[in-house]
Amino acid sequence: MKKLTFSAIAALAVAAVIAPAAAQDFPKNNITMVVPFAAGGPTDIVGRIVGEHMSKTLGKPVIIENVVGAGGTTGSIRAMRAQNDGHTIVMGHMGTHAAAPFLYPNLAYKPDADFETIGLAAGTPVLIVTRKDIPAKDLKEFVVWAKEKNDKANMAHAGVGSVSFTTCLLLNSILGTKPTQIPFNGTGPALNALVGSQVDYMCDQVVNLVPHVTGGTIKALAVGTPERNPALPDVPTSKEAGLPAFQAVAWNALFAPKGTPKAVVDKLADALDKALDDPAVRKRLLDLGSDIPDKKGRGPAALTALVKSEMERWAPVLKGTTIN
Ligand code: ASP
Repeated sequence: MKKLTFSAIAALAVAAVIAPAAAQDFPKNNITMVVPFAAGGPTDIVGRIVGEHMSKTLGKPVIIENVVGAGGTTGSIRAMRAQNDGHTIVMGHMGTHAAAPFLYPNLAYKPDADFETIGLAAGTPVLIVTRKDIPAKDLKEFVVWAKEKNDKANMAHAGVGSVSFTTCLLLNSILGTKPTQIPFNGTGPALNALVGSQVDYMCDQVVNLVPHVTGGTIKALAVGTPERNPALPDVPTSKEAGLPAFQAVAWNALFAPKGTPKAVVDKLADALDKALDDPAVRKRLLDLGSDIPDKKGRGPAALTALVKSEMERWAPVLKGTTIN
């Protein structure tokens, strides 16, 4: 074995002392949680709910920074390039951290290589929702309407690569339709347009939909899960509604820039874990229809495995997709 020089040994010793010390004083400053979509959408809502509780555990405020654009990839790039000391993290999702690379061939990051995984924050079933005055009372009638309208129908989404984009891509391919696509900076603003009947339909994560569905400002035609959602028990599953091929569940999860020290990542993961155990946080997430990961679905290792399996799932689906 090659002999280590004195200075190399000294450098190693210093590094060994500094690493845990960095974690011990972490966090020194406020933590920025980049939300790569507009305020008021699912990613923003999940980020604010868990971030508020994480700040109590970490003893420093977790500040949300909405960095929008390009289906969430702009904000994810901003987080990927941030100082890797744990003070900048990103609330990614199934789009930004699994599907997007297959739609942007030159994407500046690889979800599975350029981030440290902190943990899954919430599972988010996807619903097909329409403006309230669409001339279709259920999914079967909507299918007839959408085929008849084809490119005259307007579908809202949160940018190429977002959850609303990819899951409605699935819906449209099942129906064989090519609607006009209207991009927004997130499904918060897209939902406002749906409520105002400026667009016809979208596919979105349940989290920002529940009060609108129960209040009748939009119509929910189906949820893309095998079981009904406890927060919206009257909405049929896609199978019950006659479109079993539409299976769509998304997720939101926290990531840190690559090279963030493990001890710091562990502190962030622990704060997320505590947030997900808190009764008030759980109630808020469950009332919005999301699924809270159980203990084995939490933390860095489980999220690393999820990103890998989700990238494997989306690669063949999106390969060769042309964006109209
Ligand atoms: N739910 C959105 C999406 O379609 C993004 C958001 O606003 O959270 O990806």
